[in-house]
Amino acid sequence: MKLRFALALLVSKCVYYGMRLLGRRASHLPGYFAVRICPDYLRYVRKAKTVICVTGTDGKTTTANLISDLLTSIGQRVANNRVGSNTEYGIATAMTCSVNLFNRCKVDAVVLETDEHYARIVCPKVRCDYIVVTNVLRDSLQRNAHPEYVAGKIQLTDCPSAKLILNADELCSAQLLQQNARVYYGIARQPGDVGYPPNRVNDCPLCPQCGARLSYDYVRYAHVGHVHCDSCGFASPNADWRVTAMDAEKRTLTLLYQGEELVLPMTHDSLFNIYNELAAIAVMHEMGLSVDTIRTALEKTALTKTRFASEQVGGIEVVNMMAKSNNSLPVSMVFDYIRKKEGRKAIILALDDLDETKSSERIGWIYDTDYEFLNDDGVVQIIATGVRCHDHLVRLLLAGVAREKLVCGENELEAIEQLRTEGVDSVYLLHDMSSYPQSVTAMAKIREVLEGAR
Ligand SMILES: [Zn+2]
Repeated sequence: MKLRFALALLVSKCVYYGMRLLGRRASHLPGYFAVRICPDYLRYVRKAKTVICVTGTDGKTTTANLISDLLTSIGQRVANNRVGSNTEYGIATAMTCSVNLFNRCKVDAVVLETDEHYARIVCPKVRCDYIVVTNVLRDSLQRNAHPEYVAGKIQLTDCPSAKLILNADELCSAQLLQQNARVYYGIARQPGDVGYPPNRVNDCPLCPQCGARLSYDYVRYAHVGHVHCDSCGFASPNADWRVTAMDAEKRTLTLLYQGEELVLPMTHDSLFNIYNELAAIAVMHEMGLSVDTIRTALEKTALTKTRFASEQVGGIEVVNMMAKSNNSLPVSMVFDYIRKKEGRKAIILALDDLDETKSSERIGWIYDTDYEFLNDDGVVQIIATGVRCHDHLVRLLLAGVAREKLVCGENELEAIEQLRTEGVDSVYLLHDMSSYPQSVTAMAKIREVLEGAR
């Protein structure tokens, strides 16, 4: 086997450097050849001092990249699968880069973003020290079915020495792999939290211990918050790292850790990303880095820009936002964000999920999404456009939105011509990953319509 592994590593290295010379990304093929030559390749690659796998439904890419950036900023050498896939071949490529031709480790840490379905295969093979699970939430129905199905798959990860870094506020992932040591992070009750799950979909209504209906102390989105069971006494775990206050202006987080109050820089002001930052802080502290070192790393890491671009056109704010369609929760969160904004808003829905239409006509996610959030006095017009426009229209009508507020047209540019220009303070263009290229032309059209009305 040793010979086979040596050959796999040699071929993998040659493919990697060959592709790099040709200006290619070399994210998949070096790992592909390695695993085809030596199926147990990941097991034989010399382990770095620290190996971290980051998995979960949302935020795994951001969290893995953040951990890599923070470690790099304090001088650690890091290998990761940032440019590649998060399944076995992409991970094998990252492992190839973590050692030299003689299988000597040349990095301090390996950070691997790991697909939820592959964690059980990858984590034991790479002998990971830490498994970060960001959350297990409702995702694309055809790929991930129900969160319990995904949690069930992660639950098969047999890696007893790995310490888990878990989100205390998200019950599906907080209960995983009870036999492993664990550290929890969370955010204490905040002003915007409510006393019941705000979305149509609640994937965690019952007590995991006795099956009784759970009581919610507070919820911030989906089932993320704090619960307890009146019948058996079960409750959400207490967070070891708990944010007690967030100051978006000063860009600071106030945390409690082992009874001590700490103030650390906030790298991003959205709740989702504060959870990601907490996961990074917790894992770095577990690696033995001091709070001061972590603070220095956070200070050096530039504040990430929000995921939307906004501009002013003739006194109207125009916002171009991405909403990961085919996935009800992120879209619901974008709807919620918009309805809570001040002023009168027009919304253009360009959520085509084109990747899916090529092969199928699955629109179940539209019925899981909270279009009801858009049935709001502040929303004065909604333009449904793209190949899914009629599906959006039906769903908006079911949500009780008045017909006269709605415009429906498959051709995006023609539909945008009907954009209201009077009595509107802001315009939101919502596109998804597949419709991003069209969103650039759509933005130009919005500018043209708004400027034409001046
Ligand atoms: Zn119970």
